[in-house]
Amino acid sequence: MNIPLSQPDITEAEIEAVTAVLRSPQLSLGPRLVEFEQAMAGFAGVRHGIGVNSGTSGLHLCVRALGIGEGDEVIVPSFTFIAAANAIRYERAMPVFADIDPLTLNLDPAQVEAAITPRTRAIMAVHNFGIPAPMDALLDIAARHRLVVIEDACEAIGAEYRGRRVGSFGHAAVFAFYPNKQITTGEGGMIVTRDAALAAKMRAWRNQGRYDSADWLQHEELGYNYRLPEINCALGLVQLRRLSEMLAARSSVAAMYNRVLAGVPELILPVLDVPESRQSWFVYVVRLADRFTAQHRDRLAAYLQEQGIGCARYFAPIHRQPSSRAWSAAHLPVTEAVAARTLALPFFNRLGEDQIARVADVLQAGLRTL
Ligand SMILES: *Cc1c(COP(=O)(O)O)cnc(C)c1O
Repeated sequence: MNIPLSQPDITEAEIEAVTAVLRSPQLSLGPRLVEFEQAMAGFAGVRHGIGVNSGTSGLHLCVRALGIGEGDEVIVPSFTFIAAANAIRYERAMPVFADIDPLTLNLDPAQVEAAITPRTRAIMAVHNFGIPAPMDALLDIAARHRLVVIEDACEAIGAEYRGRRVGSFGHAAVFAFYPNKQITTGEGGMIVTRDAALAAKMRAWRNQGRYDSADWLQHEELGYNYRLPEINCALGLVQLRRLSEMLAARSSVAAMYNRVLAGVPELILPVLDVPESRQSWFVYVVRLADRFTAQHRDRLAAYLQEQGIGCARYFAPIHRQPSSRAWSAAHLPVTEAVAARTLALPFFNRLGEDQIARVADVLQAGLRTL
């Protein structure tokens, strides 16, 4: 029995919605885009949505639209997906990595505060694994130091912090729809913001710098082709409609894992309840106990893969990536200790009890070989 790490959840409704677009005359910049943008903005509780072709392009537009550029520093976790730092580097600004809280695996506000310099312009608040970043503390730091806040909500659609959905806290926020995310459009992303002027710029820049009011070949500013096709939007609209059902399924898969793996002494399990938060389960990540090393974890991962069980080290810290070596000398004790011992297990909506039991068996057999 092979079990993949992740698997999208596509029903006949998605297939029909995509097929309907293919029978229509408009395959890009059409009615589905407008509908998806309005639905996502409404879902996040803000006015504007800008559909883009990936989460990364969304983050890039936010960085540029907020005026962040050469010589500016942006505080971001290293324990996250590399897109968060890349979006900063595209504008020749400098990602400055702050360490994380070992429980929530999100930015530690004290470490953020310690990383501030006269060049700091922004905080990139990433909601890792669908757990909200500590927004009260981060917004307070930002207000005191006059920083802008970008929320990377790419792993956190539907997560709530103090009863409010993520995506509504920062100056702008980005969701992403790669096939391993909670909902997918194949590839795609969505920027949401309350700021009308910011939204207008980003909407123009995703389409080669053309404002809606202008002629087809009138380009006011340097832009990009970051457009999100109608097929993707149709898929996203159906997935969004099914989101609460899907998040409930993911929560119960996580709870099942925690029941089956409770009492395995070599493992630290993810927390099911984070205070003041409602988690939107993105991945299920276990951690080996403190006495283990990265070599143990890698051996365990190889064992699982040989047995047909998908798994991955989530995350490989950004400051330790080959592409970061030339410019980051960060030392992040919590990030490094945690990242050496984490392992994401198969996790998707329709993961069955028998599959979870099989993962747990193979995992425990693998642990006995360490
Ligand atoms: C998925 C993800 C993104 C965006 O990824 P794309 O593949 O460009 O859509 C950005 N940040 C984080 C933390 C992510 O997990």
